[in-house]
Amino acid sequence: MSKKFDLVVIGSGPGGYVAAIKMAQAGKKVAIIENKHLGGICLNWGCIPTKALIKSAEVLTDINHAEDYGLTVTGVKTDYAKVIARSRSVADTNSKGVKFLMKKNKIEVIMGSGRIVASGIVEVENAEGSKEIINAGAIVIATGARAREIPTFPIDGENFITYRKALELEDLPKKLLVVGSGAIGSEFSYVFNAMGVEVHMVEMMDQILPVEDKEQAAMVESSFKKQGINVYTRTTVESATLKKKGQIEAVIKDAKGVETTLKVNRVLVAIGMIANTEDLGLDKAGVKLNERGMIKVNNMMQTSVKGIYAIGDVTGKQMLAHKASFEGETAVAHILGQNPHSVDYSKVPGCTYCQPQIASVGISEAKAKEQGMEVQIGRFPFAASGKARAIGHTEGQVKLIFDKKYGELVGAHIVGYEATELLAELGLAMKLESTWEEIAHTIHAHPTLSESVMEAALDSQGISPHL
Ligand code: FAD
Repeated sequence: MSKKFDLVVIGSGPGGYVAAIKMAQAGKKVAIIENKHLGGICLNWGCIPTKALIKSAEVLTDINHAEDYGLTVTGVKTDYAKVIARSRSVADTNSKGVKFLMKKNKIEVIMGSGRIVASGIVEVENAEGSKEIINAGAIVIATGARAREIPTFPIDGENFITYRKALELEDLPKKLLVVGSGAIGSEFSYVFNAMGVEVHMVEMMDQILPVEDKEQAAMVESSFKKQGINVYTRTTVESATLKKKGQIEAVIKDAKGVETTLKVNRVLVAIGMIANTEDLGLDKAGVKLNERGMIKVNNMMQTSVKGIYAIGDVTGKQMLAHKASFEGETAVAHILGQNPHSVDYSKVPGCTYCQPQIASVGISEAKAKEQGMEVQIGRFPFAASGKARAIGHTEGQVKLIFDKKYGELVGAHIVGYEATELLAELGLAMKLESTWEEIAHTIHAHPTLSESVMEAALDSQGISPHL
């Protein structure tokens, strides 16, 4: 007889495993199906291993600037294989953590590929090809996404690579072309440049980090250039030809039509992600996709078929781990009949962890203008912060956007050291519909970088005492 569960989750990334735990915490019987690594892309090949690599790059950069702190350090060597080994070990520890959480919450982990046969019925095929049918009260699809490729130079895993290979590459190329300057392209450009690679980062839009506020992204671009990264905006990669192993000639074209040939040893393609919707039985089950090939869901994460939900990257919108987890919680609360609030996509924070970091929540200045909103903008540069000077990280600024009518915070943008940590306060402020006054009148400890948030709120009224 086939096994029966209250919930079957397909995919164990931050969307899937959080949904599974939430359902199990409600005393329900849950199974999770995973065909690769517990923890999904985020823990194994995304958020966590990249942050481990970035940390190594930061430590090396700090050592190279030791003289600035009155210290002389000699004999520094980079053993990149060890840098990669550390990153893989951090990822493994996190994946084991998910295994532990599954056991603790009595969730049955089934390794194999899940396919929906009909609403309430899932088939799992393991690596050896044997199949099992399981019954599900509800199904959550959380199969994530994978790197989008460029048809004219397909990924070969050696010369043309994506983040996946970049995370286990033990030898550093001398010269690297990075196609795309979103979070993934920018983080890898920062790491490889810090490790001594000649990096060329090409972006077709008129700014790097295209989803970020223009003024803020320009600060990162200027810092990248100072660090030695070759940044090309409004530029496309026309061709990339493999001359022989490890030797690629790429032709890039700028907005004026001027072509330049770059000779590099590897090309890292970071132009976005596509949803993993194939071979899931979606067609047969009647689960519809949207025009962008992602699973179509309503605000409770229900697909077009009753009892089948979809969450995380496979549904598109912001492809971020915390958004996936939040959607997982929403889906489960709906399955349990708890009538949850829907996900507020306008308040999902976005963070990129290159140095300087860039983080934001809410709308950009351009978006506010587009919406015809009258705004008051406050800025506070870290160069004016005592703490930033003391720790030697004065790049960047806090930029806060308030709606003039009520003084409410509608956009928060930070570039600089620990920007990704500093953002949390502003996410809460936005959730609580806080005004400039409430942020400005919250006493912030001195000396901290977070004082800059308070100062930016004061600056929106022209009354910062430190500007
Ligand atoms: P995933 O984490 O993609 O997990 C889906 C899982 O389902 C995978 O393990 C997959 O193998 C499995 N699967 C697929 N099909 C099947 C099937 N048929 N049967 C069984 N299993 C299946 N986000 C952030 O918020 N912060 C970051 O710093 C960040 N850094 C990133 C860095 C990189 C290099 C990359 C690539 C991504 C990064 N992301 C980051 C994005 C983040 O990883 C994703 O948003 C997140 O992992 C999405 O979670 P998910 O649960 O939707 O799916």
